[in-house]
Amino acid sequence: MTPIESIVSDIKMSEKPARTRYAPSPTGSPHVGNLRTALFSYLLARHTGGQFLLRVEDTDQTRLVPGALQDIIASLRALGLDYDEGPDRASVARVDAAKYGTVDPALLPEEGGAYGPYFQSQRLDRYREVVDTLLDAGKAYYAFETKEELEAMRAAAQMRGEPFLYNRRYRDLPLAEARKRVEDGAPHVVRLKMPTEGPIRTYDALRGETVWDATTQDDFIILKADGFPPYHLAAMVDDHDMEITHVLRGEEWLSSSPKHFCLLQALGWEIPVFLHVPYVLGADGKKLSKRNGAKPVVGVIKDPKTGEDIPGYVDHDGVLPEALFNHLALVGWSPGEDLEIMPKEELIARFDANRISRSPGIFDLDKLYATNGVYLRALAPEDFARRALPYLAKAGLVPEDADDAAVQYAADVLALEQERLKTLAEAPQATEFFFRDLPEYVEKSANKWLKPQGAAEYLSDLGAALVDASPWDAQTIESVTREVGARHGRERGDITHPVRVAVSGREAGPSLFDMMAVLGRERVLARLRRAVEIARA
Ligand code: GLU
Repeated sequence: MTPIESIVSDIKMSEKPARTRYAPSPTGSPHVGNLRTALFSYLLARHTGGQFLLRVEDTDQTRLVPGALQDIIASLRALGLDYDEGPDRASVARVDAAKYGTVDPALLPEEGGAYGPYFQSQRLDRYREVVDTLLDAGKAYYAFETKEELEAMRAAAQMRGEPFLYNRRYRDLPLAEARKRVEDGAPHVVRLKMPTEGPIRTYDALRGETVWDATTQDDFIILKADGFPPYHLAAMVDDHDMEITHVLRGEEWLSSSPKHFCLLQALGWEIPVFLHVPYVLGADGKKLSKRNGAKPVVGVIKDPKTGEDIPGYVDHDGVLPEALFNHLALVGWSPGEDLEIMPKEELIARFDANRISRSPGIFDLDKLYATNGVYLRALAPEDFARRALPYLAKAGLVPEDADDAAVQYAADVLALEQERLKTLAEAPQATEFFFRDLPEYVEKSANKWLKPQGAAEYLSDLGAALVDASPWDAQTIESVTREVGARHGRERGDITHPVRVAVSGREAGPSLFDMMAVLGRERVLARLRRAVEIARA
């Protein structure tokens, strides 16, 4: 084998333009934990002025889930992880629609890029060619055990309490003889000849060198019985052919590094920088799951246990994509200063892959919502209203075909809540009372503020005084209310609380007089009348 030093491109990150990729298998909608690795790859490529690719690893045909590809592409789009190269419209149309479901062409670029196809299922000839090169060079061999035989061997190893290692039975069978058996139709796989003793050295940008004992390693399969390559071969071939310089992938692949380094050495190819990104845990320190935040960006994930649909942060919960982007970048990475709020451009400028943490990243939902609140408050009010309006429509508070006046009213209502919301999905609950003919009165609040002696008279007088209040603005409403309150011998909270409950049904909400100004005179008077009825009942 070629000495490793001559083919490892670099161990540390540098500022050279990096070509990185996200290489999902279309087996479901990706959750935020998976996308965090994509996001780091994206930031590295953008920071160094390189390229970010999307490659679809669809060689395991039994695990394809229709619709998953659409969700993957829609998630990248929604999060703002625009890829420079990846599946294009024509190649998506070429893949079997029944297997993948359809992908909205609007999400796809017209052209894919110069290194395609970006579906592994369309690169099978190339894998075959690489496998043949290895066979011809005596670096790989055909093996003829059936699946059943292998399972029996595995079971026997288990009984002995040993890890299963293939016994290399066909390693020395002459190639001509093996080829003859293949031609005669014998079921077969192809395996790589791994070193049988001594150290195997691998490198990782975060961990440096790791030395593995060759006797713990298998002559692993590089071409399966169905003619498809496994991940180990396909990913290495593609990363090489697509000129990927930095392979950022999940920590679960770390233990496969000896396979990958030996394969690349056998091929004499330059070894890219590998960086195994640590796992993502929830705030409870447990593996990210539905309960602690493993949700998709858009679309739904099926809960593996209950079959329940888990909806997305962006399209369902109303987390802004830019806030999710910001939050995810800080799951397992930090700029080295105590900074929480960094928009995409700033993250790109500051990103340093050497600072990716070696311990698991924490996806903390409270922090995500707090960050989202900051982003919501920073939106221009019109933009905030534009983004929140669909949530009100979905909840049936504003008609889909609302006229200009209704849209303006909704925008005024939303402006009152912009400071207070953590997600857009909270908007309907927070503003519902603005849109009903009369609010629903919370019984406890009504008992506390409308029922006591004198409340009915106070509210009734206030109604009378507000009939002529002019202009109808927060300032005038406030002075009228305070005047009437004082006439009734009331002070501070005794002035405002009954009125708040009367006009909104609840004790908490936006600033009282602003809220009354937005509600408008008609609604306020009708609500005061209703509150007086409740007070007297
Ligand atoms: N298809 C692999 C996965 O989904 C990709 C791993 C990699 O990035 O190389 O885990």
